[in-house]
Amino acid sequence: MLKFLNQVTNYGKESIQAARYIGQGLSVTFDHMKRRPITVQYPYEKLIPSERFRGRIHFEFDKCISCEVCVRVCPINLPVVDWEFNKEIKKKQLKHYSIDFGVCIFCANCVEYCPTNCLSVTEEYELSTFDRHELNFDNVAMGRLPYKVTQDPMVTPIREFAYLPESEIDGHNVDHTAPRAGQTPAEIVASTPKPEPKED
Ligand code: SF4
Ligand code: SF4
Repeated sequence: MLKFLNQVTNYGKESIQAARYIGQGLSVTFDHMKRRPITVQYPYEKLIPSERFRGRIHFEFDKCISCEVCVRVCPINLPVVDWEFNKEIKKKQLKHYSIDFGVCIFCANCVEYCPTNCLSVTEEYELSTFDRHELNFDNVAMGRLPYKVTQDPMVTPIREFAYLPESEIDGHNVDHTAPRAGQTPAEIVASTPKPEPKED
């Protein structure tokens, strides 16, 4: 009798759990039923990359001191820093700099650690070519600043879906200059309580 009661109890628990899982799945389905499919008419329309998007790296030749920190912090030692020692001024002089974006994983370690801030990430993500060797950018190609999606007169910018205001489901209806949903990084820093100083 006791065994039978245990079996009934277990069966009841499993049934409740199964019903909960079905309910969770259906809630996701119903949530998506409210949304319309959103098609971005690329390349006439483009999504605005998020604030911390890591795209193609920009390089400023005049700021580089050929320290090669970017090479050492790169997980695959990718940047090529070609320099020669100038005996007159007793300093390294940069001759050539390149990064192969066909190999780069866009981790932005090099940008983070460059002591002179001559590297920066841009919003550029359209890097497709027919030949991957064309992705080996030299200092001239890396020195070119791309058009921002919001400044390109040929493109209609669409607000990135993650930043749509509450209850808005189509980026087409939102002015791209309207304030974003949520807090900006500066607001998050300002609202985070500072740790109490430790007492000795
Ligand atoms: S870390 Fe910056 S300054 Fe140093 S070699 Fe690389 S790009 Fe140049
Ligand atoms: S973004 Fe990352 S992988 Fe690419 S060059 Fe810089 S450190 Fe290397």
